[in-house]
Amino acid sequence: MSSGPGDVLDLIRHGRATTRGDVLEVTGLSRMTISQRLDALLAAGMIVEGQTREATGGRRRRSLAFNTSQSHVLVVAIDTTHTRIAVTDLGGSVLVEDSIDAPVTAGPSDVLDRIVLAMGAVLGKQGLDANDLCGLGVSLPASVDPESGRPSQPPMLPGWDAYPIAEHLQPAVPGVPVVIANDADAAGMGEYAAGYTQVSSLCLVKVSTGIGTGIVIGGRSYSGVDGGAGDIGHVAVSPRSDALCQCGMHGCLASVASGRAVAAELRALGFEATSGRDVKALLQAGEPEAARVTQVAGRRIGEVMAMMVCLLNPGVVLVGGDLASAPLLAGMRETLYRHALPRATRHMALQLGLLGEDAAVAGMTRLVVDREFSAVAVNARLRLVGAEGSARGPASPAGSPSPR
Ligand SMILES: [Zn+2]
Repeated sequence: MSSGPGDVLDLIRHGRATTRGDVLEVTGLSRMTISQRLDALLAAGMIVEGQTREATGGRRRRSLAFNTSQSHVLVVAIDTTHTRIAVTDLGGSVLVEDSIDAPVTAGPSDVLDRIVLAMGAVLGKQGLDANDLCGLGVSLPASVDPESGRPSQPPMLPGWDAYPIAEHLQPAVPGVPVVIANDADAAGMGEYAAGYTQVSSLCLVKVSTGIGTGIVIGGRSYSGVDGGAGDIGHVAVSPRSDALCQCGMHGCLASVASGRAVAAELRALGFEATSGRDVKALLQAGEPEAARVTQVAGRRIGEVMAMMVCLLNPGVVLVGGDLASAPLLAGMRETLYRHALPRATRHMALQLGLLGEDAAVAGMTRLVVDREFSAVAVNARLRLVGAEGSARGPASPAGSPSPR
């Protein structure tokens, strides 16, 4: 094991060590070294020692846990018609939130200006400012270039290509690290953290106004070389179809099976629907036609997901987004199992996500925390604190985990 308190924090944060005895066993380090590292983490407020647990073999064991209340994450979850702004603790629990109607078609500058106002209001409600944050996480329905952190040719966000979102939001939260991710990637990570950390490979397909998937492999979000991994919405499924996709092509999966496509079909049947949200409302109202059209969409999605399942052989496939519902799941079941090899689905669970709309928010928190509390980041931060401490007296880093 490499050297530093950050590596011990990593074990605790990922549930691989919950007592001093566990740390001893997992690391093989001396008791003295472990004590020093845990003391550094305790002094920094990064971990908390819990109640004495039931004595085992006559020894009292105190639990160790990541301190999820040492700081906060501000999350901005941008969707096609609305944006959620939330403050979470470091475990992803929402402490305060607001939602604004902000159609992305208004363009990035206008939408982000409105988001900045809402961010200030949400932080104010909780009596917080930038100093109380360890990160700002932004999710959006677009592929995100991993190098630049900017949207990459997003069909659903006209005018947002390569827009500097982080730079636009940064002045509102000076010095706070910004993480930007695709919304399905974030939702996949949120579901993973909430209930599937034992699963080595997980896919979440998000079906809202568009379609995308998030892939989590070995506890890490996999977004590909250009941020395009899992972007199944633009796989051509009916090349001769008249259905025009928002990307400009004909016959993409999104053009026949997304919330936008289902809404268009329902509109032709006399319903008022333009977005995934409208379809969701009809599904929740128990409208049989909405259920029927959604199930048909599920069949098309299942066909494409079968390829993904054959590639990744995931332990879990989750369905999220506005259209996540029993009819969608039923449609997917009909085709996915038929189109995929039995070997690839034998141990696979196909089900609705646990978190619903909260998945992307929880996932953005996790992505921020994974970055800001990685072993490397924590070791660097504590070395800095140690150096400052020896020069200027004891430092008090709790609550301000990022070097500013
Ligand atoms: Zn397309």
